[in-house]
Order: sequence, then structure tokens, then C-alpha cells
Amino acid sequence: MRHQLERTLWAAAFLAVLLGPVLLAAILHGPRTGALSSAQPAADRSSLPSELSVGMGLLATSMLACAVVLPSRLRSLTRTLGIDGVLGIHRFVGLAVTVLVGLHVVLVVAANPANVALLDVLHAPNRARAALGATVALGALIALTVLRRRLRHRYEVWRWVHVTLAGTALVLSGLHIWWLHHLVRDAAMRALFTALASGVLLVLAYRWLWLPVFGARREYVVREVRPETSTVSTLVLEPRRDRSRRCRTLEFAPGQFAWLRLNPSLGAQEHPFTIASSAHVGLWTEFTIRHSGDFTRELRLLQRGSRVWVDGPHGAFTIDLRRTTGLVMIAGGVGITPMMSMLRTLAHRRDRRPHRLLMVARSIEDLLFRAEIRQLQQRLDLTVVELLRQPPPSWTGASGAVDEEVLTALLPGRFRRNQLDYYLCGPPALVTDVLTVLDGLDVPQPRIHTEQFDFV
Ligand SMILES: Cc1cc2nc3c(=O)[nH]c(=O)nc-3n(C[C@H](O)[C@H](O)[C@H](O)COP(=O)(O)OP(=O)(O)OC[C@H]3O[C@@H](n4cnc5c(N)ncnc54)[C@H](O)[C@@H]3O)c2cc1C
Repeated sequence: MRHQLERTLWAAAFLAVLLGPVLLAAILHGPRTGALSSAQPAADRSSLPSELSVGMGLLATSMLACAVVLPSRLRSLTRTLGIDGVLGIHRFVGLAVTVLVGLHVVLVVAANPANVALLDVLHAPNRARAALGATVALGALIALTVLRRRLRHRYEVWRWVHVTLAGTALVLSGLHIWWLHHLVRDAAMRALFTALASGVLLVLAYRWLWLPVFGARREYVVREVRPETSTVSTLVLEPRRDRSRRCRTLEFAPGQFAWLRLNPSLGAQEHPFTIASSAHVGLWTEFTIRHSGDFTRELRLLQRGSRVWVDGPHGAFTIDLRRTTGLVMIAGGVGITPMMSMLRTLAHRRDRRPHRLLMVARSIEDLLFRAEIRQLQQRLDLTVVELLRQPPPSWTGASGAVDEEVLTALLPGRFRRNQLDYYLCGPPALVTDVLTVLDGLDVPQPRIHTEQFDFV
């Protein structure tokens, strides 16, 4: 109920931000009022391309504001849409902004061909320079995102460039509107822009000032780093006690994740990891981590008593937001972590529903938590299928790709499988493949929940 309400409120807020300025401009400066166009050159006035260009520009600015707000770690937002949902919409909106800005420029020139002169940076007025700067920043941002893997930039470098370019595009778009004058001359329009700008500034202040400064209080200490395989270990954290020996445990729903950092300073690296422990295990919180790069390797070397800062929980990839007759969990490699949290929690809750788990890994060594999952099968109605991508000759279980045959063998008949909820987590390629197979099996979309361990 609360989840539904949050969804509705967020949808209403985004719609208001997206459409508010365009609708208000249409009401105030309708095609024939001439108020909008009086500040523009005579040739531009009240022509259809001119009005469309203003509409596209306003829509692009509203969308840019939404794109900036979306990944700002508002917990209610990540809980409502899930991190995959937030990032999917963020990417879509980012691309839509770029298309709208392109159309805006074309329409400005179509309204009055003399406007080509506005593209001359040296001689153009400030309003046009700001618009050009915003367009270049936006173009660079999209190009760097698309080419990130090919350019092999470190994630942190890419992220800072991305944030700086987005901030530049937003500020320059605001200046463009301010220097155009005619859009902010009307009191109602000025009030709306002020409200929008204040809202965006508040969210950015929360993300880039409040979270780093006050997040430093959410301090945990390492209890243990427990090796699982040669490349994966489990980090066990407990909250740091304050002077009165009290401590705050991390309350979360099974399947949610948190950002970890090893340093409270403003510029410190932060990385997302799923909480792998049961939601009912009192003090300790566990994260199972594959040591793939510099940060995750550093985590492996942490000593008992080392300090870690946790921002969370986040995300909607959890069983606690939905009612279902049973779960189908499909995990690739270390993507088993949210499933472990769900299974451990379900065992604590003495859950009686039938559940199914498909574990996909490259080799036997990569099949994590095999012994514990066997124990969980004694406490839960849990069917487990292990699938190896590169099986040794002695392997008699499932192997190869996750195709229709594998999933049909795991799932009940069509009617019952459409009543189940599907949780998919792992590398993006696996998630995409499984989504295609589930689509072929006509599993209803709203029943499928995904989390990809990748942000770009
Ligand atoms: C919601 C979510 C939950 C995750 N849960 C787990 C988990 O339970 N266990 C686990 O082992 N891994 C998990 N990951 C993946 C984990 O965050 C990355 O493997 C880790 O950040 C890599 O950091 P690195 O510096 O060691 O490696 P690098 O080699 O620097 O990075 C490898 C890749 O990880 C991604 N990445 C790097 N830094 C970040 C960052 N700050 N934020 C987001 N992505 C980043 C980038 O795509 C990068 O290309 C999760 C990722 C997400 C998005």
C-alpha cells in the first residue's frame, strides 16, 4: 500500500516537473497572445517552428532536471523504482533530452534562418553561448557514456566527468532561460522556474553535501572477512557503538543493497554491494564480494576492527514489497547475494511456499554457498538447479546457456508459473538472455524483477 502510494506520488511529481513549464507557457503565451514572441525578432514571432522550438527547449530543460534528480540516492525513489528502474529511466531521459535539444536547435533556425549566426560562439549573445555550451556538454556526456567501455576509463574518472558535464549542462540551460528574458518575465513562469530550481538544488545538496557529511556517522566496524572462494569473500560488519555503548543496526528488506566506503571524506570512493545476510540476524550485516578491481581487493585486506561507512539500504529488488505464491530466483555468479539474503530471511520466517533457484556459474568453484543452500533446502521447500557455463567432463548437471528447455524443466505449468515472482540478478548479458526466454514463455512482465551489477 505504502509502496503503491510512493509510486503514485513520484509519478505525479515527475509528470508535474516534465509538463509544468510547457503547459504554463502554452497557457500564458498561447499561439496568438504574442506575449512570448514580442521579445523575439519579428521573423521568429508566433510561427509554428518558433512555438515548437520553445516547447522542445522547455521540455528538454525539465527532462534534464529529472535526469539529474533520478540518480541522487533518494531512498524512497530507489525503493519505489529499484536501481535498475532508476538507471533505465535516467538513461532514457538523458537520450530524450539530447534529441529534444537537437530538435530545438533545428527549429530555432527553421523559425528564422538568420539565427544560424547564433552558432558563432565569438559573436553570439550570452544566451546563445550558454545554449551552445549546454549542448556541447550534453553531447560529450552521451558520447563518453556510450564509449565508456571502449575507452576503458576507470569508473571513478568516468563518473566525475559525467557528473561535471551534467552539472554544466544544467547550469548553462538555466542561464540560457534566464538570459532569454521572455520566458521568465511573467510572474507565474518565474515562480515555477524558481520552485523547480530550488527543488533541484535541494536534491543536489542532499546528494553531494548531506549524504557525504552526515553519512559519515553511519559507521560500522569489520568483524570478519571470511573467504568463500579464491576470488570471493564475505565482509561481516557490525555497527560501531557510540559513547553510551548503544548501536544502530542496519534495517533492510532482503535483496536490498548499500553503498560502502572506507573513508568518510567527501571525495572517497563508494561502491554498491547487496546485503547478503538475513534481514532478521540482529547486529551483523554481511556482504559477499567478488574481488574484481582495486576497491574490492582493498575490502579483502580489511582487518578486524577496521572502519567502514554504509549508506543504505537502497533498492526495490526485494521480496518484501510484493505478495506471491512462490519465488523463482535466477542468479549468475556473485548475483547469488540478494538470493542468499532472501533465502536466509525466508528460512528465519519459516516460509512454506515452494521456491526455485537457478544458479548459473562458469565453473564449480564459482557456485557459491553450495553447502549452505543444501542446508536451506531442509528448512524450505526449495528446488535448486545448478548450471555451469564451462562444465568439467565429470559434470552431470545442466550446462550451456539458460534457454527455454532449462527454464521449462524448472518451472511449473503455464497457469502456475504466471502466479510466481521472478528475481534475476547477475551480469547484464545473463539478465538480458533470461528476460528473452521468460518473454518467450509468456511470463507477465510485472512479475519479473531484475538487478544488474553494473551502472553504465
Ligand atoms: C546494485 C548493485 C549491487 C551489487 N552487489 C554486489 C555484490 O553483492 N557483490 C559483488 O561482488 N558485487 C556487487 N556489485 C558490483 C560491485 O559494485 C562492483 O563489482 C564494484 O563496485 C567494483 O569495484 P572495483 O573498484 O573493485 O572494480 P573496478 O574494476 O573498478 O570496476 C569494475 C566495474 O564495476 C562497476 N563499478 C565500479 N565502481 C563502481 C561504483 N562506485 N558504483 C557502481 N559501479 C561501479 C563498473 O561498471 C566497473 O566497470 C553490485 C553492483 C550494483 C550496481
